[in-house]
Amino acid sequence: MTWHLYFMRRWVLWGLLVALVATLLGALVWLAWRYELSQVQDRLDRETIEAVGDIRSGLNRNTQSLQALQALDKTIDDWRNDATLFLRQHRELVRLELREPDLKTKLFIESPFRLGVFDRYGTDSAASQTVSACNIGKRLSGPAYANSNYISQTDGAGLEIMDFCMPIVVKGQLTGYVAASYSLLDILSEMVSPQYTKTQQISFVESDGTRLAMQGMQQTARRTFVSQQLLDLPGHTMVVKLESWRATPDFFPNVLTAIVLLLALSLITVLFLLARDMRRRQRAELNLADALAFRKAMEDSLVTGLRARDNQGRITYVNPAFCEMVGLPVDQLLGQAIPEPYWPPEMVSEYGQRQALRLAGNAPPRKGVESVFMRQNGERFPVLIFEAPLLNTQDEQTGWMSAVLDSSEQRRTEELHRASMERLQATARLATVGEMASMLSHELNQPLAAILSYATGPINILENPLPDSQQLSHALSGAMHHIAHQAERAGQVIKSVQDFVRRQDQAREKVAPIHLIQNIMPLMALQAKKLGIKIQVDCSHELPPVICDRTMVEQVLLNLARNGMQAMHLDGHLNLKDRVLSLKVQQPKTGSQRLWLNFEVIDCGPGISQEVAQNLFTPFFTTKAEGMGLGLRLCRTVIEQHGGAMEHQPHQPRGTVFRFTLPAITSFQD
Ligand code: ADP
Repeated sequence: MTWHLYFMRRWVLWGLLVALVATLLGALVWLAWRYELSQVQDRLDRETIEAVGDIRSGLNRNTQSLQALQALDKTIDDWRNDATLFLRQHRELVRLELREPDLKTKLFIESPFRLGVFDRYGTDSAASQTVSACNIGKRLSGPAYANSNYISQTDGAGLEIMDFCMPIVVKGQLTGYVAASYSLLDILSEMVSPQYTKTQQISFVESDGTRLAMQGMQQTARRTFVSQQLLDLPGHTMVVKLESWRATPDFFPNVLTAIVLLLALSLITVLFLLARDMRRRQRAELNLADALAFRKAMEDSLVTGLRARDNQGRITYVNPAFCEMVGLPVDQLLGQAIPEPYWPPEMVSEYGQRQALRLAGNAPPRKGVESVFMRQNGERFPVLIFEAPLLNTQDEQTGWMSAVLDSSEQRRTEELHRASMERLQATARLATVGEMASMLSHELNQPLAAILSYATGPINILENPLPDSQQLSHALSGAMHHIAHQAERAGQVIKSVQDFVRRQDQAREKVAPIHLIQNIMPLMALQAKKLGIKIQVDCSHELPPVICDRTMVEQVLLNLARNGMQAMHLDGHLNLKDRVLSLKVQQPKTGSQRLWLNFEVIDCGPGISQEVAQNLFTPFFTTKAEGMGLGLRLCRTVIEQHGGAMEHQPHQPRGTVFRFTLPAITSFQD
């Protein structure tokens, strides 16, 4: 899947999540709101029931009190007094009446709070309602109510009056009626607890919704809650209505909704933070993808093979260079454990042991391990492996990472280089020999001339033999000895050249430094004599032996000595007595573990100019007409092959010191 599709899918999922959460939250808020409304409605219903109960019990109490007024022993005046007092205590009552059994009014008392309510119509204005109440009461043999009716007042206002009538029965005989008129408005204000009307409105309504009387607050807010209850009284039924108002929209009607809203807000905040986090993560992922692509391109372009293995030795990663090296595709390498498919079968046990050591926690050397791998076609090839532990983010080791270098090409190059060096050295040796040939012939002339002259003596003697045989033999043996001596000398000269040219074995051996010098001494002496130079040797017999290829090192010494002698010879200002070539071998005092010896070849020639010094070791650089310019270059290579170093510096008061080092061994190491 491409990154683009991947991110698209992620955004779609996120969108879905946001939509779901939003729906859920909306539903929650709506439910909480609905719950809150139902709570309000329930409370209102409860209060309406309570209000209706209050009214009913108030009316009942009044009925009982009115019954109490009918005590048998009371005179009409007593009744008037009691009734007046009762009216004073009960504002909801507008008037009280005593009626004859034929319903004629016997006594009529008005409430002191509402005098003259019926003035406009006369005391009989409510008669029809009172009569119907009394008729109902008579039929029910108990208190009864009649339908309310509206009585307009002189001041323009009006009152809704409900009539009540209760038959008075004494010893089974109807003796009259007690009638009363209730003001519905005052019933609401007197009998209903003010707590219901403080913020709400209570009213009596007819079944068609007409409001008869109301009490309490006017509408304060847009949303209205309504609750209605029937107040059924004997003979008459009314509806009590309670109205309450609430502002809309009301977002925090109670704690529950507030909590839900708070949770919703927190959820939205968390979603927002998560989305921001996701955006950042997405950016990081894109960067990571870029980095990965970069890394992959880098790994693919490497010529070094890369291989990762886990702690069990299974291959977990290889780069294309590694696959190419061993000639196997990635899928045939991944997951492979011991023995790896590129191990030569004959090495499996050795490599297995090495692997076991590695897995046991022994880190391989940092400078790399040389090994041999096998290509798919069975060809073995040398490799150099560098391994490093693979650490995860918790710094725990999860395996090993190896860089594998195919060193077959390098080996081939090294081999070629070595062969060409050898050829060069052989050529240089031959050149030196050729150069010496002229000196040899000159040097050999001497012993040969001597031999010749020594030989003429015996020949003359043999041609003219001496009479004394003893004298004869003495003269002959003397001459022969001289001849033999000279021949031996000539032989030595030739042999030293032969030795020098023939010896080609590369073996390193222990050689005492003094022997190195002694071996080249005849050849040096030859040249020294020719050029009129004195040779000084400062080399103790006590010095430890050096480990070297003696032929090579002898050639180095010879080269340096020859260069020094030639330099002095060419220097016209030098006195004959100052022409001294010194060979010094010393053991420097160092604290290092390894033992080295310093070899110095010192001449008193003109020294080396800055210009010459820069090219001193460049092949074919020479200032001599017959020179080849290879000597010093070869010398340095030979010394470096032995692990040593070569340098030169001016010698005081004049001349040059060529110094090189060679590894030596102590008798202890020996
Ligand atoms: P070649 O002897 O064939 O010229 P070398 O490599 O031995 O080649 O020397 C290179 C050059 O370095 C010489 O030609 C010479 O100029 C200079 N050189 C070498 N040794 C000395 C020395 N001891 N004093 C002065 N010059 C030297």
